[in-house]
Amino acid sequence: MRERILETGTETEANGERSAFRRVVETAFELVYPRTCWICDERIVGAEAGGGRSGDVGAVGVLGGFRVPLAALVCAECRRAASVPARTFCRRCGRVAIRETARGDDALCRFCLRKTGAAEFAFDEVRPMHFYRGTTRALVLQLKRTVDPTLAEIAARLYFESRRRVLAAFRPDAVVPVPMNWRRRFLRSVNSPDFLASALARELGVPCWAKTVRRVRATPPQSAVDWEARRDNVAGAFDLKVGKADGSLDRLKGKRILLVDDAFTSGATANEIASLLKDDGDVEAVCVATLARAGLGKGRRL
Ligand SMILES: [Zn+2]
Ligand SMILES: [Zn+2]
Repeated sequence: MRERILETGTETEANGERSAFRRVVETAFELVYPRTCWICDERIVGAEAGGGRSGDVGAVGVLGGFRVPLAALVCAECRRAASVPARTFCRRCGRVAIRETARGDDALCRFCLRKTGAAEFAFDEVRPMHFYRGTTRALVLQLKRTVDPTLAEIAARLYFESRRRVLAAFRPDAVVPVPMNWRRRFLRSVNSPDFLASALARELGVPCWAKTVRRVRATPPQSAVDWEARRDNVAGAFDLKVGKADGSLDRLKGKRILLVDDAFTSGATANEIASLLKDDGDVEAVCVATLARAGLGKGRRL
């Protein structure tokens, strides 16, 4: 049933029983969580909280697997703002694609099209949800400091809704989060890529291999501007966990991996992990899934 609703984006009259059930669920939910938007904190008004418009339907797992409509958690404005922007992202590097090639999901930027000035990334594609600004920036920052995993479920749902087509085309076998620097994790006490990756894995119905990649040395903050300096900064910072009990390395062979990070700036970190996964893990393909494309001068730095 859920799949059918997701496909059509509408609820039918014949589905009255489900609507009645949904009202009960929502009422119960409202007792626990007041209806303010999880991203902007504005109150969600009754009519829009009901959802039902095309693209708005979708449920988010909260409260121990209990699912409520996304529209009851995020206001209509934030849902709209977090969807893919009018400008298309380059599939190779995540820059803004140029018009001549802006054919949906296969679009390229002018650098990748001419193969000049384009970084040779080890990953096969990068799929940001939006620019690092406005609602998406607020979401990324919230994720870094919110302990409640509901927000990660919301972010995963928004991502899934907006990038459904590329996810289906890529056909990932497993989801792998970019590991955080332990010092940053300690200070923030939230590992947002981890939370986001496991929520996205649930949406996709594939396993999340959270411990496959580990950080073997802390990296200083990426303050350098140029790509080479950023790449050198993360070189050798990661390792693949040698799976004795669970065979982590063997299970990577020939797999298609969705590498998840909350934000993507130069691509140096994702590139380092992707080359590790390919060289040492023998994976077939890596697609980087990220909420925000930062570093394009359209938003403030992370
Ligand atoms: Zn909002
Ligand atoms: Zn590009």
